[in-house]
Amino acid sequence: MDCTRCGACCVAPDIAALDKPLGLRCPHLGADNLCTVYERRPQVCRDYQPDAVCRLIEAPTLEERVHKYLALFELTAEADDVRQRGCYSMRHARRG
Ligand code: SF4
Ligand code: SF4
Repeated sequence: MDCTRCGACCVAPDIAALDKPLGLRCPHLGADNLCTVYERRPQVCRDYQPDAVCRLIEAPTLEERVHKYLALFELTAEADDVRQRGCYSMRHARRG
């Protein structure tokens, strides 16, 4: 299938080459859900091909698509944990 530029694969998976945690938006993803560093994006992003997963996670909003992606791979709890730890460290930083 063709890529619909839905943005989900730049948010849902963890991407080691970018040090991007599971379920968190890549900092290079623009507000229009397009890559802002497209010409110099890492190889892992260049190699990524749309597949059946893209259709399985189709939904009206990016948030819903990410939710469906994480659920499909049974990563919802892990992603929640990542988010909570993020919140914790931000709280911790504010306290410090
Ligand atoms: S999840 Fe699939 S359709 Fe959406 S941007 Fe990525 S490759 Fe394209
Ligand atoms: S570098 Fe670009 S293509 Fe790769 S995950 Fe980030 S926004 Fe997506």
